[in-house]
Amino acid sequence: MSLRPGERIVRMWKCRADVYSEPASDEDSGWGKSGGLLVLTNLRLTFLQNTGLLKRGYLHYHSAELGSITTATVHKHGLLVEWMGKYRPEKNNYDKMEDLDARTMEGTGGTDLQRAAADILAARSGAFAAPPPLATPPPVLDFNTVMRMAAPGGRIAGLRCPKCSNVMQFPAYGNEVWCPFCQTNIRAEQLQTWPQLIIREG
Ligand SMILES: [Zn+2]
Repeated sequence: MSLRPGERIVRMWKCRADVYSEPASDEDSGWGKSGGLLVLTNLRLTFLQNTGLLKRGYLHYHSAELGSITTATVHKHGLLVEWMGKYRPEKNNYDKMEDLDARTMEGTGGTDLQRAAADILAARSGAFAAPPPLATPPPVLDFNTVMRMAAPGGRIAGLRCPKCSNVMQFPAYGNEVWCPFCQTNIRAEQLQTWPQLIIREG
């Protein structure tokens, strides 16, 4: 794994991850677990798979840019990290996590660090790139609602045109009317900021 300019290692863990290899038979899905190194830098999370039985080597298996990580959740199978890959959503489970001493490349004994890793990822990735919830548009106010809010007893004598001051019947429904004299459009929601257009009884 070669670091990019400005990239630095934040933390490393020994762990196992889900890996895919060419199925050996029809019954074999190809998926299995492999040991390796999970490397967190200031830019990305990378899994390096252990290779070689006799001589320790590492193969770059996958990388997730921190800004593309959408969740990091701890569950009984380990730490599930999901991110948006280049072409599709990706995910992996990391378990048996163990802190790694970067100088000796040996485990330091701490185990089950999934919870801590999830917290670190949340802090490092800007609490994940979840899209903001869609804003709910304000309900369109209708005249009937205005009437119920303005005069609980329904005691409204009329509606005054803001342009020509003609007084017309207060609409019983709908959310807009046109003044019969000057054709000015009057919307029910305008009455929230223009309550003086409501002619009350008495
Ligand atoms: Zn008018």
